[in-house]
Amino acid sequence: MTMPTTYDEFEQLAMRLDMSRGKPSPEQLELSRALLDEAGTAGFLSRDGIDCRNYGHLLGLPEARELGAQLLDVDAAQVVAAGNSSLELMHDALAFAMLYGMPGDAPWSRQGEVAFLCPVPGYDRHFAICEALGIRMIAVPTTQDGPDMDVVDAHVKNDASIKGIWCMPLYSNPSGAIWSNETIERLAALPAAAPDFRLFWDDAYRFHHLTDTLHKTPNIIELCERAGHPDRALVFASLSKVTVAGGGIAFLASSVRNVDWWQRHMGVRTIGPDKLNQLRHVRFLRDREGLERLMAKHRALLRPKFDAVVAAFEALLADLPDVSWNRPEGGYFISLYVPKGYAKRTVALAAEAGLVLTPAGAAYPYGRDDEDAHLRIAPTFPSLDEVKVAARGIALALRRALEETAR
Ligand code: PLP
Repeated sequence: MTMPTTYDEFEQLAMRLDMSRGKPSPEQLELSRALLDEAGTAGFLSRDGIDCRNYGHLLGLPEARELGAQLLDVDAAQVVAAGNSSLELMHDALAFAMLYGMPGDAPWSRQGEVAFLCPVPGYDRHFAICEALGIRMIAVPTTQDGPDMDVVDAHVKNDASIKGIWCMPLYSNPSGAIWSNETIERLAALPAAAPDFRLFWDDAYRFHHLTDTLHKTPNIIELCERAGHPDRALVFASLSKVTVAGGGIAFLASSVRNVDWWQRHMGVRTIGPDKLNQLRHVRFLRDREGLERLMAKHRALLRPKFDAVVAAFEALLADLPDVSWNRPEGGYFISLYVPKGYAKRTVALAAEAGLVLTPAGAAYPYGRDDEDAHLRIAPTFPSLDEVKVAARGIALALRRALEETAR
């Protein structure tokens, strides 16, 4: 493919590419082909002789919980190995809190207005859950160290309607931020007015390193316990971007009290998870080392794509004031900051040239980026050649947007 040097050239390529979501590429999905090829031979009997074809084991197959415990650095008794989606677990945890309340506290829906802190830019699907459940969202500014903790502190100190905060401690979607130890320690110890205040700790990119430095954040469950808030953290993770997107195992880790609470309400919703899939996954990944070997293969496929985006931005945008981007060390996204008022127009120009980007504003509560200055770039799904062209296309669309008002 020829590399465009102007927006018009980019448009003439008549690209047809959807880069709006952070999906793994077909090559990444191939890395777990054995899950399909060997599905028939994996059998159905678990290590302990459980017939995985039958109902039961609401909290997950014991060896799947143990795998989760190893991956999340907690005891197996603190882990739920569930279905195919961690987002589903986040939704259900919030829905249970609204309907039934957290252990020992009244249902949130009967406590008047309920609000959540939303570090921005953040994950649009977190915000969609809050919106659907009628939870008011309060945007909190973030840096590459995590949310501005003075702002968080000031909000939660006296306002008991604030029931929680969305947290993506490692390689945040979409900023790639790695939250600092200080931020995380402060979150664990936060003097919240609401006794049922919760950290919704979405560790979606815990294993998704893009460099040889395998970053790690502190164990939030332990920190909360030490700070006298043993039930504060609900940790979520999944194998969606390890094996099969939307077809792996999702994990919830928390205090045993919260796991009991989960079991109580989950038992009404389902008779148990898909243990055959859990068994297949445990046999395929085996342990933490097995998972890390697989993630190194993902890294080899992903790293050049992220490098290509950064190289294109450096080549085409470095001279522009008020334009910046992050160079993520993990995760699935790059944030591109453009001059105020130019994000929507850049997305529209890219779309006119056949390149679909995440809608501008999606990374903010209610889809509202008041500055219209943030773009979420998702380079994982397209081929490397497509990413190279698309990244130039994004940069050229931004330049065209700026030229339009300069004329
Ligand atoms: N959390 C974050 C931060 C994500 O970026 C994503 C997917 O992009 C998910 C959760 C969804 O995970 P799952 O497939 O386990 O529902």
